[in-house]
Amino acid sequence: MEEVEFKKVHDPFFQLNMLSSTTTNSPHHHCVWVSGPIIVGAGPSGLAAAACLKNQGVPAMILEQANCIASLWHFRTYDRLRLHLPKQFCQLPLMPFPVDFPTYPTKQQFLFYLESYAKNFDLNPVFNATVVNAEFDGRSGFWRVKTKVTEYVSRWLIVATGENAAEVVPTFEGMNEFSGPILHTSLYKSGECFEHKSVLVVGCGNSGMEVCLDLCNFNSFPSLVVRDSLHVLPQEMFGISTFGLSIWLLKWFPVRIVDRFLLFVSRIIIGDTNRLGLYRPKHGPLELKSVYGKTPVLDVGTLAKIRSGDIKVYPKIKKLACNSVEFVDGRIENFDAIILATGYRSNVPTWLKDTNLFSEKDGLPKKKFPEGWKGDQGLYAVGFSKRGLLGTSVEATCVAEDIASQWNSYGRCEFLQGQNTGIDS
Ligand SMILES: Cc1cc2nc3c(=O)[nH]c(=O)nc-3n(C[C@H](O)[C@H](O)[C@H](O)COP(=O)(O)OP(=O)(O)OC[C@H]3O[C@@H](n4cnc5c(N)ncnc54)[C@H](O)[C@@H]3O)c2cc1C
Repeated sequence: MEEVEFKKVHDPFFQLNMLSSTTTNSPHHHCVWVSGPIIVGAGPSGLAAAACLKNQGVPAMILEQANCIASLWHFRTYDRLRLHLPKQFCQLPLMPFPVDFPTYPTKQQFLFYLESYAKNFDLNPVFNATVVNAEFDGRSGFWRVKTKVTEYVSRWLIVATGENAAEVVPTFEGMNEFSGPILHTSLYKSGECFEHKSVLVVGCGNSGMEVCLDLCNFNSFPSLVVRDSLHVLPQEMFGISTFGLSIWLLKWFPVRIVDRFLLFVSRIIIGDTNRLGLYRPKHGPLELKSVYGKTPVLDVGTLAKIRSGDIKVYPKIKKLACNSVEFVDGRIENFDAIILATGYRSNVPTWLKDTNLFSEKDGLPKKKFPEGWKGDQGLYAVGFSKRGLLGTSVEATCVAEDIASQWNSYGRCEFLQGQNTGIDS
């Protein structure tokens, strides 16, 4: 639904000329008062927050820059993608996945689930509404959230723009000279157009490893740049997901013991990864995740291809030339294309004027999970805990409960007062 259309349909959100006349900078901005919270982002986190609020009787307005929900999953993920974790750890609050879905739903199934979720809770985001600025107005006590054409005003602002809002694109010496395509994984769909080509994949997180496997399946010749040490774990141990098993073990044992167990069993199942050029960090996988937020890679078959020589492993890139890449160990190899599996970052510092909840450096909450969801003056964050969709569920529930308690004490009352006094005209 377009922004302008939305305003006509949803009457409860009325023009707040009083605020706009004193505080709106641009004469072209309409000013819209939103009685409930404003949520920025209609990905899984924004939808989960809106559903939990609705469940508590609080209406919310979602502003989304794309023209659909879950734009990351629609437009910036590859075809063969499945959820990396079992579905019970990826479902949003209040609505489980359909029972006939497999343990690891496909991207299309996940999108179907999200569409059904939005429909079930009657969530209707305002699409094509990129938030370009949001700041707290100390004089009025409201958040002022601007898109290019409209200024929305509310007591509460929920940031749900995700950890993956902007691509991280590294620069290399000679990058402009390289004659083949250089693309980020957000643009990679499948290995089909790389058949019989020699492709260098830079970055060995879950995406980089899986893209290599996909390239193998389309008869191309992938190589993987492994710059740092990393933990690769089997996706399942003893028929149970490694993630689920870890959560269960952590109920009984400290992180270090569970880490030792995971590494011992991994060694038996997938062997010594050091031998393949994938060196394990000093810290265990769960400790690394909890202290540095670095996610272990769950192997979906890539290791076997590295072992068989179908995927070659290289160290850090030194420089690029017309059709070749020089590595720090002195080797020089020819490549037809380079795929950057170099990850994403938050875009929050580009539009949110707040240095209290969010760090300006990385655009993530300064406080770690489970405390990073609440800021000052009605500011909230959902989906920045580095804990995937499980973190999203926990945070969406906390945020909704917190706002509902305020809404029930004064929010609804204030909203009605606003209508009766005719602030909107
Ligand atoms: C390839 C890949 C596989 C993954 N697999 C899993 C998995 O198996 N399990 C798991 O738990 N997690 C997984 N993740 C993590 C994944 O990011 C989250 O699961 C989920 O998408 C996060 O939801 P979100 O709503 O927080 O962020 P997003 O899905 O990124 O949604 C944020 C939304 O905000 C919008 N937006 C951004 N900026 C603005 C703005 N200024 N104004 C308005 N709107 C804006 C975006 O368009 C987007 O629609 C995966 C991620 C990737 C990249």
